[in-house]
Amino acid sequence: MYEIKSTQVLKKIMRDYFTGLEQPGKKIAWCTSVGPAELLRSFGFDVYFPENHGALLGATRTAMDFIPESAKYGYSNHVCSYTTADIGAFVKGESPLKKQYGMQGIPKPDLIVYNTNQCREVQDWFSFFAKEFNCPIAGIHPPRHVDEVSKKEIDLVVHQFKSIIPACESASGKKFDIDSFRETIRLSKEATLLWQQVLKTSIASPAPLSFFDGIIHMGPIVVMRGTQQAKDYYSKLLEELNENIKNKVGVVKNEQCRVFWEGMPIWGKIRMLSDLFAENNTSVVASTYCSSWVFDEFDEKEPFESSALAYTKIFINRSEKAKMKMLKSWLEEYKCDGIVFHDTKTCFNNSNAKFGMPLRLKQETGIPYLIIEGDLCDLRFFSEGQSITKIETFIEQIERAPRHLSSMKE
Ligand code: SF4
Repeated sequence: MYEIKSTQVLKKIMRDYFTGLEQPGKKIAWCTSVGPAELLRSFGFDVYFPENHGALLGATRTAMDFIPESAKYGYSNHVCSYTTADIGAFVKGESPLKKQYGMQGIPKPDLIVYNTNQCREVQDWFSFFAKEFNCPIAGIHPPRHVDEVSKKEIDLVVHQFKSIIPACESASGKKFDIDSFRETIRLSKEATLLWQQVLKTSIASPAPLSFFDGIIHMGPIVVMRGTQQAKDYYSKLLEELNENIKNKVGVVKNEQCRVFWEGMPIWGKIRMLSDLFAENNTSVVASTYCSSWVFDEFDEKEPFESSALAYTKIFINRSEKAKMKMLKSWLEEYKCDGIVFHDTKTCFNNSNAKFGMPLRLKQETGIPYLIIEGDLCDLRFFSEGQSITKIETFIEQIERAPRHLSSMKE
């Protein structure tokens, strides 16, 4: 059975990261997953990411116990299930961090910061906790659904980045230090470029990393951006994956088909889906989700401008035209035979199957698509039996006319 050995190191550094949040004297900032983590770290904050906690609630399948609780506080069960699961878990005083790492629960924030580059839901979600903890909160609100990111937009977002500095100074007790900010940007950039190389190893056939591995190994690039540990981890992982390419070892031994995953993971069904694709000799080689933490524009010489650019031009914040261009380029680069769109019930923002994009993409590229209905955490919106049938039929259809494998073997 294929195994990524670096997973043992991953487990250790994730444990160290989480348990480190409970060390006495730490100042904690909460941040959205594509929020200004580097700026926060430059003030010496340890940074905690509620979305990562939402993913843990999904992956441990405990989310379902907590989602109904948030309804008692007026949160509709049709909004983001990271939000409803996280709020429900808080209300019940529960967290997978207790069982997994022996922690007391989620860490108490000294400052809460969000960026609505991904959705407005994070503002509502984080505001709930700001009120509960009586904690200062600051937000960045960039222009949404941009085509290309112009200087006008960068200037606006730079201004917003700078406007959260007083809140950071007050909560951390430290003055802003541009050199410290440059250093965290430099470390973050080095880690993100390594993460990009890790993802690109799956251009090889057989792919040494699937989407389902990627969503586990992306932990450090989400929660440890701007640290040496993240950089060291991805150097090690990259080395192992390159060795596997050399030895022609991959996730799926007899790779017959290569698929792209668009949209959120279905956290409670990772193993089931991973096994299903593998049993059908199919590698899920790339995704918009894992690629969303590649910030190759970071530049320590221009820390504000490059952060504003990197965090505003992420896939989820782009126009349909820009998204189509990015998807076409990934489908080509990763030599995909098909694309699966996860139509996520409670995340409208990260679902691109609702307004005809799959059909338009097929018309322009010829690449077949499949739409699966499901959700990131709320498994009531996912039908396992129906999805298995749809996926197996889709793969059969592709195998009759694989698009890329013949050219790759030449
Ligand atoms: S992007 Fe979607 S899943 Fe993520 S926080 Fe926003 S609504 Fe929730």
